[in-house]
Amino acid sequence: MRIAVVGAGPSGLYAADALSSSGADVDVLDRLPVPFGLVRYGVAPDHHSIRSVRDTLQKVLEKPGVRLLAGVEVGRDVSVEELLAAYDAVVLTYGASRDRHLDVPGEDLAGSVAATDLVAWYCGHPDADRETIESALAAARSVVVVGVGNVAVDVTRVLTAPMARLEQTDMPQHVLDALAASHITDVHVLGRRGPAQATWTTKELKELAELDGVDVLIDPTDLELEPVSAALVESDRVVARNVEVIRSWADHVSDTTHRHIHLHFHARPAEMLGTDRVETVVVERTTIDDAGAAHGTGETYEIPADLVVRSVGYRGVALDGVPFDGRRNVIPNVEGRVMDADGVPVPGLYVAGWIKRGPTGIIGTNKKDAAATVAALLEDLEARGATGGPGIEPLLRDRGVDAVAFDGWTAIDAAERALGASRGRDRTTIHDRDALVTAARAGA
Ligand code: NAP
Repeated sequence: MRIAVVGAGPSGLYAADALSSSGADVDVLDRLPVPFGLVRYGVAPDHHSIRSVRDTLQKVLEKPGVRLLAGVEVGRDVSVEELLAAYDAVVLTYGASRDRHLDVPGEDLAGSVAATDLVAWYCGHPDADRETIESALAAARSVVVVGVGNVAVDVTRVLTAPMARLEQTDMPQHVLDALAASHITDVHVLGRRGPAQATWTTKELKELAELDGVDVLIDPTDLELEPVSAALVESDRVVARNVEVIRSWADHVSDTTHRHIHLHFHARPAEMLGTDRVETVVVERTTIDDAGAAHGTGETYEIPADLVVRSVGYRGVALDGVPFDGRRNVIPNVEGRVMDADGVPVPGLYVAGWIKRGPTGIIGTNKKDAAATVAALLEDLEARGATGGPGIEPLLRDRGVDAVAFDGWTAIDAAERALGASRGRDRTTIHDRDALVTAARAGA
């Protein structure tokens, strides 16, 4: 069996692991010259224990029969059709890389950025738009973060955390310099529904109040629960814990020498105002109906904002030649088998991870998800019979595409550790694509 996996993030590597354990040869392709997807470019750099899942994923790349072909973009360097001709099956695990839109006036003003772009920047993603983020950050004193999920918590923490915490991370030096120079005093976090409906997890939430020199403030009237929210607290232990943590902050008082995180609930961004760049967010108060949906009340208030971070979820995008559900932004599938417009499985084509089910769940969720897809794939191949296949290396050679293989990644890894050591840290992420490729070539 010879299988191609598209995407070297957690889903792709969990799929490669399950496939190679079943005796398949697996080529793992990634658009970027490095593996690990959102573990490298999404998990907050100060979350060391979550990031250490890298070590587990690295072991998959070390397995005989698993080959890394990084820096190869499907849709540009090779088509899905060519992959299907070169392998017994193809598993698409390319995730959900774009941001969702708010669809409010002023959203596109300078100084209003997507959390996906801010996160890419502070993780050292080679495609990060440094100028946009760094100029927005340089101007920022009061920040509005829209959304109350774990990405909103990450962004809020990174923007307010003391440098002593951030300096222990692998963030690139220019990111640390920009954060050290920032004049942020206040971060306002907006939840369009109540504290019971927030999607953050308790551990991540609690960390906000543990930051040195940071006060988390909440208006006690936001803590009154309507019947639907009270019922949620009764039935869901995570929700109950979240609400309890937020309640315990109701008596916090502000220390003027500290940075402040203000949690606002029942608060929907209605409009962003500003001349050349964002200056104010108009917030509409909401109520929650019996089904838990938010509705605007028409009552508004304003929050001054030099920087707005829209953290309202990730969005998957279509790939040429592959069916796509543009409403849910996922590839239509049944148990990981990609379905065409007539609801018929596309032979040999499978999907796993966020592009299969949408951007939800923790990293571990992808292990089970990938295993289910691999089980369906193996069942189909058993019925159809596997023939192997030439793979795509001959085709890449003909096209002059020089993929970064595992030895190239090992060289990048060593270069990042050496760069980190020169600054008294474990590692510093190399953010420049050419520098990554040069490091890979030097070692390969
Ligand atoms: P998320 O959990 O889906 O949160 C999105 C937030 O945006 C929700 O509060 C949502 O509110 C809000 N929202 C959506 N549309 C909105 C609109 N039009 N106006 C105002 N608010 C809006 O997504 P995420 O934070 O991007 O995280 C993605 C996944 O990665 C999650 O499963 C998360 O747990 C995971 N993750 C985990 C960690 C960790 O474990 N440490 C870290 C980062 C991410 P509604 O609920 O009202 O729609």
